[in-house]
Amino acid sequence: MSDYRVLLYYKYVKIEDPERFRDEHMKLCEDIGLKGRILVSEEGINGTCSGTVEQTDHYMEAVRSDERFEDIYFKTDEANEHAFKKMHVRYRPEIVSLKLGEEDHDASEVTGKFLDPIEWKEALEDENTIVLDARNDYEYDLGHFRGAVRPDIQSFRDLPEWIKENKEKFMDKRVVTYCTGGIRCEKLTGWLMKEGFKDVGQLHGGIHHYGTDPETQGEKWDGKMYVFDERISVDINKIDKNVVAKDWYDGEPCERYVNCANPECNRQYITSEENEHNYLRGCSHECRIHPRNRYVEEHNLSRQDVVDRLEAIGETLPETV
Ligand SMILES: [Zn+2]
Repeated sequence: MSDYRVLLYYKYVKIEDPERFRDEHMKLCEDIGLKGRILVSEEGINGTCSGTVEQTDHYMEAVRSDERFEDIYFKTDEANEHAFKKMHVRYRPEIVSLKLGEEDHDASEVTGKFLDPIEWKEALEDENTIVLDARNDYEYDLGHFRGAVRPDIQSFRDLPEWIKENKEKFMDKRVVTYCTGGIRCEKLTGWLMKEGFKDVGQLHGGIHHYGTDPETQGEKWDGKMYVFDERISVDINKIDKNVVAKDWYDGEPCERYVNCANPECNRQYITSEENEHNYLRGCSHECRIHPRNRYVEEHNLSRQDVVDRLEAIGETLPETV
């Protein structure tokens, strides 16, 4: 039995005074003892948080007692401990950031057709359907649906622009999109429809829902699913689990995340413990020789240690650093 739970939820619904709502909601979460990250805006709420089974039950009941949220859907994961260190409730102009600007719309009014897990699995097998990953690049690299398109972007925010540039490739096909919990797709698919795409679908409840479905059992998902909490990743496929992520340096199968030790870069990437040491946890030569490289500080390496480490990978430390 797991004593803790992680909740993942959102709802697009009008919140008149989001700043007041934020303060009251923060108080509620603190009184209960939850930890997590919740975004609040005029357009709705988007949250993920953790707590004991009792605390999360209490929270879900409190949220549903507000008629705006009586039908909100909570996705739950069992856990052995909190998945967050602190509790944050923040106001944001939008609950998912997608650079839509003038083209922004109300996601509660226009959105793509919702596909349940069985329909989604059929879509994955259909040759005339384009399956588009609606997440960031580092999320795709850890795991994704078999055959899904990986947009050539770093951040989900840039997806609309990328779609505009590649429009003719997808225009006369059915386009279906997926993300972690469904929220990014609710916004994105509405935008696709407004852009003139005729047949647009989205995975209802996101990868999370698909992975917990008793019939599909996460089949046709490769690798792991990235999550935005201390767990970093979770399993989805219960039928034929595999590893698709690759070590940043040598391309070997690997699922271990680190942040680049250059504090000005901080890029999240995948590498083994061994390569982390060999490459001073720097994603590039510039990051390895950065004067404030955190790996060098943490391990108390001398200048000569750094010179030796770099020499072993065929690099040199410039005199000026
Ligand atoms: Zn870097």
